[in-house]
Amino acid sequence: MNKPAFDRFYRYAELTDLLNALAGAHPDLCAITSIGRSHEGREIWMATLTSAKTGPASDKPAFWVDANIHATEVSPSTCALYAIYKALSGYGSDAQLTRLLDTRALYIVPRANPDGAELFLDERHRRIRSSTRPYPLKERQDGLHLADIDGDGRILSMRVRDPNGPWKAHPDDARLLIARDPAGGDSGPFYRILPEGEIQNYDGVTIKLARPLEGLDLNRNFPVEWAIESEQPGAGPYPTSEPEVRAMVQFIVDHPNITGAITFHTYSGVYLRPYGTRADDTIATSDLWTMQEIGKTITKLTGYPAVSVFHDFKYHPKETIKGVFDDWLYDHLGVYAWTCELWSPQRMAGIDMKKPNGGGYRFMDWFRQHDVEDDLKLLKWQDEALGGRGFVAWQPFTHPQLGDVELGGWDAELMWRNPPSHLLEAEIAPHADVIFWHALISPELSFREFSAKRVGDSAWHLQAVVENTGWLPTSVSTRAAEKRLVQPLELLLSLPEGARLVSGELKTACGQLEGRALKLTMGVWGGSDASTDRVRVEWVLEAPAGATVTVTARHDRTGKTRATLTLVPS
Ligand SMILES: [Zn+2]
Repeated sequence: MNKPAFDRFYRYAELTDLLNALAGAHPDLCAITSIGRSHEGREIWMATLTSAKTGPASDKPAFWVDANIHATEVSPSTCALYAIYKALSGYGSDAQLTRLLDTRALYIVPRANPDGAELFLDERHRRIRSSTRPYPLKERQDGLHLADIDGDGRILSMRVRDPNGPWKAHPDDARLLIARDPAGGDSGPFYRILPEGEIQNYDGVTIKLARPLEGLDLNRNFPVEWAIESEQPGAGPYPTSEPEVRAMVQFIVDHPNITGAITFHTYSGVYLRPYGTRADDTIATSDLWTMQEIGKTITKLTGYPAVSVFHDFKYHPKETIKGVFDDWLYDHLGVYAWTCELWSPQRMAGIDMKKPNGGGYRFMDWFRQHDVEDDLKLLKWQDEALGGRGFVAWQPFTHPQLGDVELGGWDAELMWRNPPSHLLEAEIAPHADVIFWHALISPELSFREFSAKRVGDSAWHLQAVVENTGWLPTSVSTRAAEKRLVQPLELLLSLPEGARLVSGELKTACGQLEGRALKLTMGVWGGSDASTDRVRVEWVLEAPAGATVTVTARHDRTGKTRATLTLVPS
């Protein structure tokens, strides 16, 4: 099929059609199913990518991708669709992508929250955090509600003259507002800044920002360190209370072959890793090292830093973010999971987001406070790259409640919330390569040997050697092995008709096999490559010559691998 457009966002019906078209063009590689229904009853589509010729997805190590769980973060959906298209169209011509779909599976949910995205993308054009189910409020509160009051299709800011306002115009660029002198005595005019919107039950004096009726944040509803509303706004009445989250959690728990995951969000231009709630020194050291190694490749492929939420991405230094997707996957399932925040206008504008004197990056703290030079850089960038549409010059407007105001400021939707359309494909493309690479580092079982030697008239000595040929251990993480979040490797022998097992077990538990993940630098004092990636199992069998014996290696994370031999005298 022709390449779909990746410079735009898809409404739900279009997204459904595009997924079906992609699967229809590649029926041996892609199937579309629903993992459940949203609050409003929309199907939550998942594309399963793997080559059916080499076995079903459930028999292979798999990688999970979801996108757009937050309503207005729609560029992640386009990113997920791009990854689906790239994998399917590259199969057969690109060696890595062919190996990917021959040996692994991808489970990709391009729009985890279809109701919230539709509310944003259709003519209602509302901006809410997540799903459309009202919670915890039951009716609209008094106060200021976001709305496009001048009908220009944008929700900007309102600048209101106020002798006690905290802002004044920048002397060099009057569009920009800067803080007033703390000691006072500077000259106005001074302004108050509010989001564009209407005030319900305005008393003529006091303005409060109303909490939206749709107060849920689906990425606080996962069953890990979940907290009540007063401690974690948006978390819902109980973990997995929301149908979108419950569908994701149920699917992932039902598919222990998932070896890793990325949830795509916007924005900040960063990959975030566990934990949100705990410091790095609480993580099993080998897992921390592995996450850091994965992070290095992510940075190499995308230019995005890869950081801990706890150390580098807290909204407030004294508060942690609870009940999120990536923490749940690592904590409860022991697989590595990332939150990718696509897009960084600051990086486009050439702003250095590293903290001075080392010690990580500025993300949330940048929004709290940064030099005005950064704002000037951003203004200059959008003047050049967006033709000045990213920051709208202040225009007089008669507000229904406030009277004379000005509308203008950052067009957050065009500039901040998602990449503008002409920059969208370039921004999302490298992340498909992260998905493919991360899927390919999974554990993978293969039979190095399955042989039989005749040791008597109808007696045979069988030997099987299984190896983990993947980079990660079969458990994926030390946490999964130590906390028994994953079952051991099992070798299952199936006997031919008329055969009798003399020694050995039909089912042999083989523990976990190491990968190469911690082999990073060649040893100085001699090697230490003991064969911890390999296991040998033997049996003695009585069976007629010519019979066929099958052995299956079965593991939660890798699915099933089989080897067969025919008993012939050597
Ligand atoms: Zn988000």
